[in-house]
Order: sequence, then C-alpha cells, then structure tokens
Amino acid sequence: MLLTMSLRKSWKLIWVGACVVLFLIVFFSFQGVRNPSWRGLTMGTSYSITIADRPRPAELADIKASIEKRLAEVDAQMSTWNPDSEISKFNDFKRLPALRELEGENFSVSPEFAAVVRRALKIAAATDGAFDPTVKPLVDHWGFGAQADAEPVAELMKAVGWQKVRVENNALLKANPDVQLDLSAIAKGYGVDAVAEVIRSSGFTNFLVEIGGEVVTSGTKENDEPWRIGIENPQPDGEIFQALELSGGGMATSGDYRNFRLREDGTRYSHIIDPATGMPAESDVASVSVMASACMDADAVATALFVMGSEKGFQWVETHPEFEALFILHSNQTFTTRATSGFPIEELTTNSH
Ligand code: ADP
Ligand code: MG
Repeated sequence: MLLTMSLRKSWKLIWVGACVVLFLIVFFSFQGVRNPSWRGLTMGTSYSITIADRPRPAELADIKASIEKRLAEVDAQMSTWNPDSEISKFNDFKRLPALRELEGENFSVSPEFAAVVRRALKIAAATDGAFDPTVKPLVDHWGFGAQADAEPVAELMKAVGWQKVRVENNALLKANPDVQLDLSAIAKGYGVDAVAEVIRSSGFTNFLVEIGGEVVTSGTKENDEPWRIGIENPQPDGEIFQALELSGGGMATSGDYRNFRLREDGTRYSHIIDPATGMPAESDVASVSVMASACMDADAVATALFVMGSEKGFQWVETHPEFEALFILHSNQTFTTRATSGFPIEELTTNSH
C-alpha cells in the first residue's frame, strides 16, 4: 500500500517535471535571443556579427548556418590562397584569347564572381588605376601573395593593367596569358555586403557585420542608439583612435600599419602596390577610412586613396559625393586627421606616435 502510494507520487513528480521542461523549451524557442553577437574566422581574418532584433533560437541557428555557407562561397570564389577557387583557376588559365578575339575561348565564372570583377574594373577606371585588380604578380613579387614571383618588376608589369581583363556576361577574358586577378582589396567588403544580405533576407533590419575591420551597419542597436564604430590608431598595437556613429551603410579602412615588410635598412614597405610604378605605394597616408553605401565600394576606394596619397585622394572624394573619407596622416611624431565634410567625425584629434 505504502509502496504504491510513493510510486504514484514519483510518477506525478516525473509528470510535473516533464511538463515544466516542455514549457521551458517552448517558452525559450519563442522568446527572442537578446543581442546575439558572435565571432568567427574567414578570408584569413576574423569576423563579428551582432543582431539587435532578437531572433528566435531556431532562426538564429539558421542565420548562422546560412552565413557560414555564404562566407565559404565567397572564399571559394575569391581567395588566391585557395588553389581550387574560381580566381585561382582563372589565374592558372593560360589559353585565353586576346581581347579582340572574343569568339575564342573564354573562362566561365559564377554570376557573383563576374559581378565583383565588373565592379572592380569600374572602380579601377574611376580611380585611374590606383585600385587595380590585376596587381597579383606584383603582390607576389613583393612577398604579400600566395606565390613567390622573382621576375623583375618591369617584366611583370606587362601583365598588369585593368584594361587587360574584360567581363562578357559570366565569362572573363584576359589580354595575355600572364594576366592574373587579386581581389583582396575588395573581397572583404564584398563579403560584408553578402553577409548583410543574408541577415536582411531573414527579415532583420538592425545589425552590424564586420570582417577584418570592414563594416556594414543597418538600423540601430537594441536601445535605439546608433551603432558606434572605432577607427584604430594606425600603429601595430592600434587602440581606438576615433569613434564615430554609423547608421546604415558601409565603411572600410586601408593602411600600412598592419600588413607591411621591413627593408634591410629598417624602413617599412606596405602591402598596397602602386600599379603605375609596380612598387609598394609610398603614401603620406597612415590609414584612410571610407564610407559608402556598399562596403565593397568603400573597400576598393580606400585602397585607391592610399595609393593616391592625401592631396589627390581628398580631391577625388570631394568630386565623388557617394563617398566620404577620413585620412589619418603621418606627420613628424604625430598623426593628423583630415575628413571630408560628410564624414561623421566627432572632433578632430591628433595623437602622438
Ligand atoms: P587590407 O586587406 O589590409 O584591408 P586593402 O583592402 O587595401 O587592405 O587590400 C590590400 C590587398 O589588395 C593587398 O594585400 C593586395 O593583395 C591587394 N592590392 C595591393 N595593392 C593593390 C592595388 N593598388 N589595387 C588593388 N589591389 C591591391
Ligand atoms: Mg580595400
């Protein structure tokens, strides 16, 4: 008698427990996750994402999986470090016809890859070749690429020049067999735009996406406050130099403070090449941050402005109203800043080296 009573009691307890667990599972799967924020690795650098719209756990898991997939796709299209990527295969492809023989053999690529190359060539034209996606042989020559290239610069220059590549529908053509593409100066920005698109198509409008310092924001933070972005002090140990509000759109930064090599005399040279000379760009710019509605455009233009230097670069931005820029310039022992009128800088500061 006693035994059946305690058995009944424990069944009751199990039932109550199971109901509570079930309730909690249902409750939490309909309850939004507050400010989910996570980090990961892609394109040889790190990324971070925050969504301020409280996605449900299942939605969040879906978004994360879709983003991983999208980033893997971009990598498989644009990484020169991956020998099987579309870009590496195009670079290896030696039997392409000269630009005039368009009926000849051409190289088919994915529509996304064709679109990025088309955009890259457009920005190359607009910046008079300061940004040039055909610098690959020079990037390798100066030790910043996936391959080593010991040929003299003058020889390599024969394969450099954005007019030597053409996009016809979803096919690429190169003017001579040695022409190769390097989209590293635009691919991170493109990746940020692609991730933002994944989040937007899941129905969310308030988020921040960042890959290796290139950013897109949309809407606001959860408390309706604007997203705040830090611009690094242009030194290897870069702390925050300038904070600014970015409510929508993209921002990208190029500089010589992170990726550089040292000459024998101890002077440094940057990973950004001046396509006009074939040499690492000698710039008065320590770093330049560019705002544009697409992060991809901001990324490519930031590289171009670094090559142009502050005088020419500033003029360029002034005549292209879809861009704003903040230049941080080397100046004796300090940095000085110079921003175009629409750049949302709070107060101009100088900082010592
Ligand atoms: P980061 O990759 O540090 O953000 P950038 O966006 O400026 O910097 O990209 C620099 C990379 O782009 C280089 O490492 C090289 O692969 C490539 N590159 C170098 N010079 C140029 C150039 N003038 N135009 C286009 N791409 C370039
Ligand atoms: Mg860039």
